[in-house]
Amino acid sequence: MKKICFLIIACISFLSYSENVRVRIYAEDKIKEVSFGVSFGSYTLNNRDIKRQDKLKAVLSEGKVEIYLNEKLLDKVDTLKLSSEDLKCFFQITPTGLKQRRYDNNLEIYPTKDKQFLMLINNVECENYIAGVVQSEAGGASDNTEFFKVQAICCRTYMQRNINKHKKEGFNLCDCVNCQVYFSRANKEQVIEGSMKTKGEVILDSLGKPIETLFHSNSGGETVNAKDVWGKEVSYLQPVRDTFSINQKNYTWEKEIREKDWLNYFKSKGIDLKKESNKQEILNFSQQDGRKNNILGINLVQIRKDFNLKSTYFSVKQWGSNVKLIGRGYGHGVGLSQEGAAEMCEEGYEYWQVIEHYYTGVKIKEIKNQ
Ligand SMILES: [Zn+2]
Repeated sequence: MKKICFLIIACISFLSYSENVRVRIYAEDKIKEVSFGVSFGSYTLNNRDIKRQDKLKAVLSEGKVEIYLNEKLLDKVDTLKLSSEDLKCFFQITPTGLKQRRYDNNLEIYPTKDKQFLMLINNVECENYIAGVVQSEAGGASDNTEFFKVQAICCRTYMQRNINKHKKEGFNLCDCVNCQVYFSRANKEQVIEGSMKTKGEVILDSLGKPIETLFHSNSGGETVNAKDVWGKEVSYLQPVRDTFSINQKNYTWEKEIREKDWLNYFKSKGIDLKKESNKQEILNFSQQDGRKNNILGINLVQIRKDFNLKSTYFSVKQWGSNVKLIGRGYGHGVGLSQEGAAEMCEEGYEYWQVIEHYYTGVKIKEIKNQ
């Protein structure tokens, strides 16, 4: 019975879609002093009204936060709260020595646990956060709203899946690649529209769980089975034929390697080169008729890593004293191809068709606020 109750509670908390998310900003920087101010809208600072022209500063001092208003010490507090009146408000922030950024909604500043630095938390409405992530990660990649819908739904699914990632540290997500890059609020029209038009929508697997929205730059014409890369079968990360990636920017690549080095590599992995058929397979390896996952048992993922190749989707050709690797695609090849997705949107496909093309057997569902 206890187990059942726990399961029910877990499911309910999992499906709720919280309105705000706490994101640690400048998470990779060590900050002791930070200037900030209102960019748009009405704000209060620890319950005190402030004006747009007010210059605000927070300084770490003896384990507390000193607040300066127009260069005069105003207060010394445990937590500074810059609170916005509504969802349209945004502020600017500049830690000393770092670049200025703008974020939507609220800001909290308090000392880190060890009292050595300041913790900066952007307490932001979920959809504003999603739009900010999309702009930070892919804002320059397209002007097509449909493309940004694809990005938004993937970022939102990531958020939903990882909402408790930093819970023990007192926030939900951080702003660096370890979670999702979030270096700005969104101000690009198509990005905001793409996020708002997919509001609350996430991608679920056949068991109703948010999927891991893996993506890469270009599939080379066929995506990779997750099992071939990480050894684990994932129902929605299956190989699919992907003509949309063909002839896009990162579709082809070439690399020359000394034949001697190429052969010695396989020798070092225990392949018997005295056997002519082994040598021929290594020197004339081909994926012309589709992706393979190994050369004589040596995993292509390992070979890609060892030779720093753009993808595992290549064929080999003898080329003087070298071998030439003729490759297709860029990245691990699992899940969504970003260039392919952009091309699908250009060709008029809708965002859900793009998602269903790259992620096998998934469902898109709107998770409502509770
Ligand atoms: Zn993180």
